[in-house]
Amino acid sequence: MRYISTRGTAPVLSFEEAMLTGLARDGGLYVPETIPTLSRAQIAAMSGQSYEDVAFTVMRPFIGDTFTDDEFRELIANAYDTFGHDTRAPLVQLAPNHFLLELFHGPTLAFKDFAMQLIGQMFQKALGRKGERVTIVGATSGDTGSAAIEAFRGLDNVDVFILYPHGRVSDVQRRQMTTPVESNVHALAVDGDFDDCQARLKDMFNDFEFRDGVKLAGVNSINWGRVLAQVVYYFSSAVSLGAPQREISFTVPTGNFGDIFAGYIAKQMGLPIKDLVVATNQNDILDRCLKGQGYHKGGVHPSISPSMDIQVSSNFERALFDAYGRDGNAVAQLMNELGEGGFDVSQGAMQSLQDIYSSGRASETETTATITSSLATTGELLCPHSAVGVKVANEQREAITPMITLATAHPAKFPDAVEAATGIRPPLPARMADLFERPERLTRVANDLTALKAHINGALNT
Ligand SMILES: *Cc1c(COP(=O)(O)O)cnc(C)c1O
Repeated sequence: MRYISTRGTAPVLSFEEAMLTGLARDGGLYVPETIPTLSRAQIAAMSGQSYEDVAFTVMRPFIGDTFTDDEFRELIANAYDTFGHDTRAPLVQLAPNHFLLELFHGPTLAFKDFAMQLIGQMFQKALGRKGERVTIVGATSGDTGSAAIEAFRGLDNVDVFILYPHGRVSDVQRRQMTTPVESNVHALAVDGDFDDCQARLKDMFNDFEFRDGVKLAGVNSINWGRVLAQVVYYFSSAVSLGAPQREISFTVPTGNFGDIFAGYIAKQMGLPIKDLVVATNQNDILDRCLKGQGYHKGGVHPSISPSMDIQVSSNFERALFDAYGRDGNAVAQLMNELGEGGFDVSQGAMQSLQDIYSSGRASETETTATITSSLATTGELLCPHSAVGVKVANEQREAITPMITLATAHPAKFPDAVEAATGIRPPLPARMADLFERPERLTRVANDLTALKAHINGALNT
């Protein structure tokens, strides 16, 4: 299995190389050269299997010879062992033919643990046998950072630096990043918003001297390994509801387009997915784009679902690559236009996107109202991101096809929004109940490439 860049000019890599690299050297994102498919019989055989067994079947064709079968099974087992629910991704029913896929039983209470815990295991294995050390730098709107730190803390072969927007992440998110005691963990509070953090991260990757000097590795949602790990729960949940005999639809609260893109990969692999619905909050650039209004950046408007407060949705580039017939030149040109403020999607590409994705948005009021009504009608406390999904799913679902809405975080991760909607302050699970007593450790840094590089070099040398 070979990996190519969405901008067409970076070296073709193996799975191991693509995973350890993150962003391609031409500024693009790595995607598999071809998508392997699973037969109906292989999908049907997943019925009743453990999450780990499904994970092995789904991901194995993508990893080439990076790991042996036994090694890969062990990495998967270690990755999900830390979860607080034996089925890893349980389904809860909300209404006739509407189900919630609870993806928040991992160590940091958000779906990002599914990918990050596995990436941590894979990095450790791959680097350990090469005797190499890397510097992981990630940008986060909150959940990626805590999941990355949880996955990499204390590992021998990595330092992990996380850039987060100062004052714009929840207390629980911040504390999950600033309280780990391991010396290879570095939480950096940047004076800017999430798009600034993400832009500085891209700058570091495009600064080849720095990139090669510190052996920079990326674990943002652009990392192919992360997208791959998220493909698994589309299969496990759809099969629970009768796939492949029955079509299933999904609604996905979306920011960086990683999670929903994993659904598209599942569909390409042969899972009978009917609708793939993108759900955005008031930062609705993706909803507007998918409705044919082009992709034009505005400002980020902070919301109660901060992990989706975004204008530059990095994985959308992968969707565009396919929509433009895998023409790297065309994608490179769109991304140049994006640097100037935005781009329009060609008619053919728009049609191709709309054949795969539909979309909707939830305002702040609608999100809060959905948290309130879900508690009243089902007893389920939703985090604000999941509520955005449920609101949009309720508009789009039809009677015949089961709809699965992804619940991307635990309500206790966003207690203020949940309490405002319900009067209930959701408690943290017992395993992290002392989070607010642990001392914090962080560094404030300017939204400036030179300052960030200096800080990272300094922290590494001590
Ligand atoms: C990251 C995140 C999202 C958005 O996921 P993408 O893959 O970036 O689209 C949604 N909800 C929560 C809770 C998140 O942490």
